[in-house]
Amino acid sequence: MKLTLKLISLLILVIVSALALDGYLTLQRESVFLRSELEGKAYRIGNALRQLITDTWRTSGSRRALTLIEAASLQDQTFRIRWVWLDVATDVNLADKHVPLVNREQLQPVLRGERAHFEATDERGNRMLVTYIKVDVADPRSGAIELAERLRPIDEFMAASLQRQFVLAGVVLIAGAALTAALGIGLVGRPLQRLTAKANRAGQGDLDGPVEVRGRDELTELAVTLNQMCENLAASQQRVRNETEARIATLEQLRHADRLRTVGQLASGVAHELGTPLNVVSGRASLIEGGRLTDDDVKASAAIIRSQAERMTKIIRQLLDFSRRSPAERANIDIRELIACTVEVLQPLASKQHIELTVNPGDNSPLSASVDSGQIQQVLTNLVVNALQATPAGGQVTVSAMPETVNAPSDVEAVSDDWLCVTVADTGEGIPEELRDRLFEPFFTTKDTGNGTGLGLSIAYGIVKEHDGWIVVDHDYNAGARIRVYLPRNKPEVQG
Ligand code: ADP
Repeated sequence: MKLTLKLISLLILVIVSALALDGYLTLQRESVFLRSELEGKAYRIGNALRQLITDTWRTSGSRRALTLIEAASLQDQTFRIRWVWLDVATDVNLADKHVPLVNREQLQPVLRGERAHFEATDERGNRMLVTYIKVDVADPRSGAIELAERLRPIDEFMAASLQRQFVLAGVVLIAGAALTAALGIGLVGRPLQRLTAKANRAGQGDLDGPVEVRGRDELTELAVTLNQMCENLAASQQRVRNETEARIATLEQLRHADRLRTVGQLASGVAHELGTPLNVVSGRASLIEGGRLTDDDVKASAAIIRSQAERMTKIIRQLLDFSRRSPAERANIDIRELIACTVEVLQPLASKQHIELTVNPGDNSPLSASVDSGQIQQVLTNLVVNALQATPAGGQVTVSAMPETVNAPSDVEAVSDDWLCVTVADTGEGIPEELRDRLFEPFFTTKDTGNGTGLGLSIAYGIVKEHDGWIVVDHDYNAGARIRVYLPRNKPEVQG
């Protein structure tokens, strides 16, 4: 609409300028023409009278000649004819009826017998066009016929012309504006509105519904290009969606494979862990089988067998839970609980290797974060399994979680500086300086075939990044290795 308005305003400006110029020139021309008509008429009348006056002056005397002139003048004063003495000073006696309306100095051309017209004001204040025709008579003074015609009719005619021009300009202006507005809105405004709406919808991600503009002008070409662009965009968006879905599926498979590998490692710990209760169950069963136990002893042995069976069920269920592929889903969870649960699953592996796996209790207050618990458990498991593998028998692996206020690295989009930091520290061999840059590369491993795939840390890195966090490998930790995971923290709600 703004473009249409601009076009209309510009067009109106051009029309008004053209009309104003035309009106001005026409009025000028008419004014010049009317004036020259008046001048010509006065000159012709004056010339005709001159001959008559010269003859009458000579034959019948001055009085008769002057009476003739008076008689020729019109009664309504619009066209006056007078006899004037040219060499009389006007300012001496204005009341004298033979004093010219024009100053004596201006009358020099008339004295020389030239044709001359002047504009002057009569005694009543009327603007007059004054013409002098010199007449040679038998008198020592120089005399002339003065023909004075009121200019008011010309002024009135000019005013009427001006008014007509204004009316004409107004009509042209209104008609032009209405026509341009109708054409502008129909040909430019509406199609542009449709194009703008389409561009806005496309900007908000709605690429459907091609814009319809009829005709063969540039706007139609623009509409076709816009429709084509939206179609291309929709196609490439679909391609990106498909590729992303394929990538996510692959990543999921990779993560699941990594979990299963960990399950394999845990299985040996579980098998070791099951040894003790199985021995207890077997011993108690043998005792009962010997038949020498009292009823109460049999009952006590059965209770022990039941509790050991429950313990074994729990160990196996934890392993099965860990290996299960669960759909990605975020929820508010307490990270400390997740750590406790993960450490419990890994405990058999640690005890098989005679490593003390502990959770540093910290201040024990709940640490809430909005995470996918399965994925974060996988991160923790990978870090702890790595720590257990790097730590010799008799060593220690400690897991802790603390709230921390820290500035995020530049590549992390942080909404606040409130984080929770999960630390896995071990007393193992440590990570050599030269390997630190490569730890998160997929398939980078220093372990023997069968022991390492090189996926654990790269998968942990991907998961933490998806959670808008980051991982730090500490350089200044000399006891072994220490890896910290930062996750965005949900601030506890302030009570009261
Ligand atoms: P993998 O454990 O299958 O080798 P990871 O990506 O989990 O793959 O680990 C990559 C490498 O990082 C390991 O091979 C190991 O050299 C090193 N690493 C990881 N954690 C530790 C640790 N706690 N102590 C020493 N080295 C470690």
